[in-house]
Amino acid sequence: MTLRRSWLPSANTPDTDFPLNNLPCGVFSDDLPPRCGIAIGDMILDVAALEAEGILTLADHPVFDVPFWNDCMELGPAAWADLRAQITAMLAEGSTKQFVVEDHLVPMASATLHMPFLVSEYTDFYAGRHHAFNVGSMFRDPANALPPNWLHIPIGYNGRASSVVVSGTDVRRPWGQLKPQGSDAPIFAPSARFDFELELGAVVGTGSDGPITVAQADAMIFGYVLLNDWSARDIQAWEYQPLGPFQAKATATTISPWIVMRAALEPFRTPTPPREVPLLPYLREPGPMLYDIAVSVALTPESGAESTISRTNYAEMYYSAPQQLTHHASSGCPMAVGDLLGSGTISGPERANRGSLLELSWGGKEPLEITGGTRTFLQDGDTITLRGHATGAGYRIGFGDCTGRVTPALKDWPQ
Ligand code: CA
Repeated sequence: MTLRRSWLPSANTPDTDFPLNNLPCGVFSDDLPPRCGIAIGDMILDVAALEAEGILTLADHPVFDVPFWNDCMELGPAAWADLRAQITAMLAEGSTKQFVVEDHLVPMASATLHMPFLVSEYTDFYAGRHHAFNVGSMFRDPANALPPNWLHIPIGYNGRASSVVVSGTDVRRPWGQLKPQGSDAPIFAPSARFDFELELGAVVGTGSDGPITVAQADAMIFGYVLLNDWSARDIQAWEYQPLGPFQAKATATTISPWIVMRAALEPFRTPTPPREVPLLPYLREPGPMLYDIAVSVALTPESGAESTISRTNYAEMYYSAPQQLTHHASSGCPMAVGDLLGSGTISGPERANRGSLLELSWGGKEPLEITGGTRTFLQDGDTITLRGHATGAGYRIGFGDCTGRVTPALKDWPQ
């Protein structure tokens, strides 16, 4: 796939996240209230205004004049394809619509970005082979690092939709119940081992009620976001057995401001790695269901310089989002428009490819070098920035930065 050229010059530069091939979906505001927009180059196309003027029509009722993409998602895959076709025709080099469309471009630099969709429910998985192995090696032993079910089930837990926030939102260090090493009793204190997790999130665009195949699950996915699953390791270590993470993961989950539609990622499909044991038939994939997306993590201390601390690829995952969605629905659990599925931490085989500080500092035992210091876990004032790109010939598909800054824990606990 090569670059589709636009009459907007900033969309044709090789380093933009948002060429005409991408067209990711977000929610923005300027002098007017939040509404749907599509990123193109360094601008945002105001699709709510295009719809109001009758230049863009997807349904017999407006779907873009609201501060979320759920109404558009609900129209289904044929409408999503129609949207891409209409917008591509408007923005392509030589378009006869340029003179009407250019009035509806808003500079990204002067806009505020909001949550791109209403999160119905949030489920987080544990699908990274290297991550599961690393964590299992640290907490159990390397010979039995993977739980016995791991090669058979895409393991997950039901998280919180209420604390999913958009990139740029500060994240307050949580208090929690933790049990310091060597202590007999737990204490209630701010987390001292606050961490990030590098993930991709799949956004469910159409609902289901009953079992679905992996192919049907793939067709239900509207798009993907970058996702940082903030994690308090000390709270997690004390609370997680036997029911899994609870408060350790409930503080916040940060997503990128742009949902990259599945269609934009189509040229970058890649298969899951060879199965180490055969999967049960309901989880077998009809084709490649992962994507070749290079992802990275940068850490910037308060008034310090940015260090890139991890680089890996979404293609490292053992289970794909359609497999996770199929498994999620297999119990009869209805899936809804706006459901968000976290991939699980994306780690690669080497130390430089690890997608959390827990792994990068090996449980705090091997401090990580950053510009001007070291880190085991996050300090107050640290900013974490996730980035991701699929790379085509002369263009790339990006998500925009997914950032969050850690602010100090509450000083006093309510009495
Ligand atoms: Ca996670």
